[in-house]
Amino acid sequence: MKFDYHTHHKRCGHALGAIEDYIREALQRGLHTIGISDHSPFFAAEEDHANPRIAMAKSEFPRYVAEVLRLKEKYAGRIEVALGVESDFYPEHIELYRSIYAQYPFDYIIGSVHSIERVGVFNRERWLGITESAQIAIKEQYLDYIRQSVRSGVFQIIGHMDAMKSYFPAYTELETIEIEKTLQCIGETTMAIEINTSYKEKKKKWHPDLHERYADDTNWYPSDDTLERALFYGVNVTFGSDSHEPDRVADDFEQVSERLRAIGFRKWTMFRAKKPIQVDI
Ligand SMILES: [Zn+2]
Ligand SMILES: [Zn+2]
Repeated sequence: MKFDYHTHHKRCGHALGAIEDYIREALQRGLHTIGISDHSPFFAAEEDHANPRIAMAKSEFPRYVAEVLRLKEKYAGRIEVALGVESDFYPEHIELYRSIYAQYPFDYIIGSVHSIERVGVFNRERWLGITESAQIAIKEQYLDYIRQSVRSGVFQIIGHMDAMKSYFPAYTELETIEIEKTLQCIGETTMAIEINTSYKEKKKKWHPDLHERYADDTNWYPSDDTLERALFYGVNVTFGSDSHEPDRVADDFEQVSERLRAIGFRKWTMFRAKKPIQVDI
């Protein structure tokens, strides 16, 4: 069973191609399922299109869903098209987001912590000129946000759970017990963490040599070390390329499957109408 649950397209303002381009690419690459999961609009904003280069307009959201559902029908029997969304997680707005998502027939919702108290997780400045204990405090706050997103019950998949290493690769080596707490918390649910293969893109663009100095030598989120611990806590896993261009659909799917089997995982988790389904890796 080959699938990819994390894809974007031009609606968000920073990805290439239409939804159907991703579906065609997925068909060519022999996928059984392609999940469409563009970035959620910033629903809490007053204006319709608060962040044009980050996410679609609020008014575009129903059209997005309608388009995915139309394509689901059109391709039925050839490839399964799953309706998803990569949702930002803002603790202060979670009830608003919950009420909006309840109006649509999602197969799954990816919950991604993209910012903490308005500072982006990909912001490299936050790590500069602070002590290691201050860095650990940031990591712990990030993990706390992830646990809050788990407990909200809004999401089926946790997006790129160590995204903070993108521009600060030493993140992986910051020791904290909170990672155990977080994995245990996830393991008690039917949610899945995604193995997200887009880290390699970030590595390519930014200081490849710096990334090589650290123990985490994979091209994916999360690190192998986190995956080994996730297995121990019974955490489910799923796959997402986080493609922002059709050419990356299912990128590294085979390599990830192999790595997961080597670590000891035997099942992927897929979702239909938010119900988890276990399939062989
Ligand atoms: Zn994006
Ligand atoms: Zn994301």
